[in-house]
Amino acid sequence: MMDTYCTIRVPGPATVRPAIARAFERMADIDRRFNASNPASPVFRFNTRGEPIADPDIIALVKAALTVSERTGGAFDITVQPLVELWGFYGRTPAVPAPGQIVETLLKTGWQRLAIENGRVLRRDPSIRIDLGGIAKGYAVAEAVRILKEAGIPSALVDAGGDIHAFGRIKDRPWRIGVRNPRGEGIIGILELSDESTATSGDYERFFEQDGKRHHHILDPATGYPAQGVISAMILSKDATLADAWSTALFVLGAERGLECLRNVPGLEAMIVTGDGKRYCTPGLEGRLREPGDGRTRN
Ligand code: AMP
Ligand code: MG
Repeated sequence: MMDTYCTIRVPGPATVRPAIARAFERMADIDRRFNASNPASPVFRFNTRGEPIADPDIIALVKAALTVSERTGGAFDITVQPLVELWGFYGRTPAVPAPGQIVETLLKTGWQRLAIENGRVLRRDPSIRIDLGGIAKGYAVAEAVRILKEAGIPSALVDAGGDIHAFGRIKDRPWRIGVRNPRGEGIIGILELSDESTATSGDYERFFEQDGKRHHHILDPATGYPAQGVISAMILSKDATLADAWSTALFVLGAERGLECLRNVPGLEAMIVTGDGKRYCTPGLEGRLREPGDGRTRN
């Protein structure tokens, strides 16, 4: 679902299966309702017919997205939908658009032209369309975790294509995840998660090559082109939704502006890898990331 593979791991007997099934059902439900390409979703009807959105889950997520837009000067912007469409990241063969088309499409974006009024999401301009692809996976993970915890499950790892939340322990230690090398094989570090989320945005996730250049799916709303400079941005947080949105935002902001922005947001740690291979970490993450070869991390 959500264009990726979702996994739920729960140590324990087969009696945990119904809770896992319910968590998956909730993720599938979020996927159906939040997906801009599903004609039956409120997001589709909003985008195509301007129908206000009354779904409380979607409203909560749009609210969260707008807060991140505000704090990042618009680097995170769910109204990039027309640009993502123009580049062809939805299904059809992707290609670099003509510069004129980019300029024209930029006029159809802008998070300030979205409004939440009387408990509904409205657009102030008929050209505005939304794409929750940069934040919905995190929300789905958070919801799956909520359902597992409510079912009394003491330990689990939920993974939606690299957006991960883990709580409890496995074989009497915290869950550990590998941080993928954005270029080449293997991992560049190991993180232990204790009721925490991590999300990563990378230029290797979805891209096409044209004229010897890589064009990926995270667009800079200021230019209309794929954001330049960063190849991977990872967030560590208690909140899976925030981790997802902020990893996409940091990818656009770049290392310097990104870390600067984060200083005003408590509870988020980050690691950014730039095209020249340099790593930039918040102080809180530096001490948490273990080397893959570190003996302390062996099973
Ligand atoms: P993620 O993999 O979480 O970084 O999200 C990438 C997806 O978010 C893309 O496939 C688009 O659907 C959407 N997106 C692209 N650029 C942006 C942006 N600047 N702000 C918000 N969403 C974006
Ligand atoms: Mg994201």
